[in-house]
Formats: sequence, C-alpha cells, structure tokens
Amino acid sequence: MRIINTEAVVPVIRDLAIKACYELDDNVIDAYRKALKKEESPYSRDTLQLLIQNAEYAKKEQIAVCHDTGTAVVMMEIGQEVAWEGKSLIDQINEGIRQGYRDGYLRKSIVRDPLDRVNTNDNTPAVIHTEIVEGDKVHITVMPKGGGSENMGSFTTLVPGEGIEGVKKFVLDSVKYAGGKTCPPIIVGVGVGGTMDYCTFIAKKALLRPIGQRHPKALYAKLEEELIEEINKMGIGTLGMGGTVTALDVHIEYYPCHITALPVAVNLQCHSSRHASAVI
Ligand code: SF4
Repeated sequence: MRIINTEAVVPVIRDLAIKACYELDDNVIDAYRKALKKEESPYSRDTLQLLIQNAEYAKKEQIAVCHDTGTAVVMMEIGQEVAWEGKSLIDQINEGIRQGYRDGYLRKSIVRDPLDRVNTNDNTPAVIHTEIVEGDKVHITVMPKGGGSENMGSFTTLVPGEGIEGVKKFVLDSVKYAGGKTCPPIIVGVGVGGTMDYCTFIAKKALLRPIGQRHPKALYAKLEEELIEEINKMGIGTLGMGGTVTALDVHIEYYPCHITALPVAVNLQCHSSRHASAVI
C-alpha cells in the first residue's frame, strides 16, 4: 500500500483550480483557430477572434478566462493501492478549492442551499466524483463548470427500440433547445447507458476528452461525426450570433445498461472549456 496524507491534495487542488480558470488548454485554442477557418459568418468570425485574444490575454496576465468561474467539479481516480491518512479527504479537497478561489481572485458562485440562496463565499463545496482504479497513484482533475452551459444539460430514458436514431434526436433537440445560452461554440458530452446517475456522470466525463479525438469504437465514432455535422447545420454560431460552427466537438461515452432502458444524457460545455489535471 502507498500511504498518502490527505493534506497533500490541498496545494495540488488549489493550483489546479487557478490554472484551469486562467489557462485554456492549447487543444481548446487550436479548436477556436480551426473554427475560425471554417466559420462563414462575419459576426461569429469576429467573436471567435475575440475569444482567441481573450484566452491569450488571460494566460499572459494570469486572470480568469471568464467571470463565471463555475461550480468546482473535482474528479479523482484513486488507485486501489492507496491508503489515506490524516484529516477528512473531502474536507481537504474543499480546502484546496477554498484556497484556489481565494488566492486566484476567482468569483465565488456557490450558494449553501438551493432555496435560501446564501453564498458560501469560498466556492465550496466542490462537486466531487471518485473512482477506484488500478495502481497506487491518484489522478486529480479540477473542472470549473460555468452556469450557462451546465444549466442546459438534459437527460432522458428512451425505450431500447428507439436505438441510435432516438439517441441522435434527443441530442440534437437538446442542443437546439439550448441555442446560444450555452456560450457556443460548445463541446457536447453525451452519455449513453448505465443508470440515470451514471449516465449523466459519463456525459460530463466525456467533456474531458481532447477536442478532435474520436471514440475508439467505430459505431460511436461515426455517431459523433454525424452529430457534429447536424449540430453545425443548426446555424447557432459563436455566442448564438449565427454561423456555421456551433460545436467544436461531440464526445460520446457509453456503459452497459438494463435490458429495458436506453438512458441518454447531454452535458454541454461552453467555449470556456476549463480543466486541469495532476497525478500524485
Ligand atoms: S457558460 Fe461558460 S463562457 Fe458562458 S458565462 Fe458561463 S462560464 Fe463563461
């Protein structure tokens, strides 16, 4: 067993929260540039250029890419040979988020109760997902998720007979309904299968895959390509101003499911596709 004191995650999560909010991955900026080459609308082209400048400026000046620094989603893949010692791991994850949002001057957007709406003033608690994997390492990802895009996610359970066409229709209807509210160009995360909760989780996890990388299984890769094409025909464009690029990519993840069900979840990612990872 490898023993890790939970306090070790605090500085890691602090730094990842700040990095994710300040520095878009090169993969995202490259996708903006590719979109600029394809985009036909002058309004969307101008806006894409502004998005590129904004991302470059935020990185250079070390400031937030977007004012909405989101819900702090933390995903941890924990090796089964790791044993934790020390204080509560959940508390230490939240301490890392607290320090990151404080030291990075990131907007605090979390209310303690959805109905009394009192801000916690430190962006905690994070939404934490843990998975047990092989090995003795811990892979940590901090993924600040902006409200505009997260608010437009959707879920349904189709009957199995609706099949691929049913999945396509649900994804396309979801993206169309969301329109410009998700701050396009978007990445569309799709979960297929599992249970209601697991389906929505894999839809979110799908957003972490690098833009341009297709699903390894031919069936899903083809479906991703068909969906990208259909979504970009919708004409929503950058920030909803009309145009030929609405989605930078579509990523599907699947999981086995019950014989009676075909769960489908759509998690939309705005152009501020922020995430940073580290391994301890
Ligand atoms: S949806 Fe994304 S780009 Fe739009 S305001 Fe929220 S974080 Fe910013």
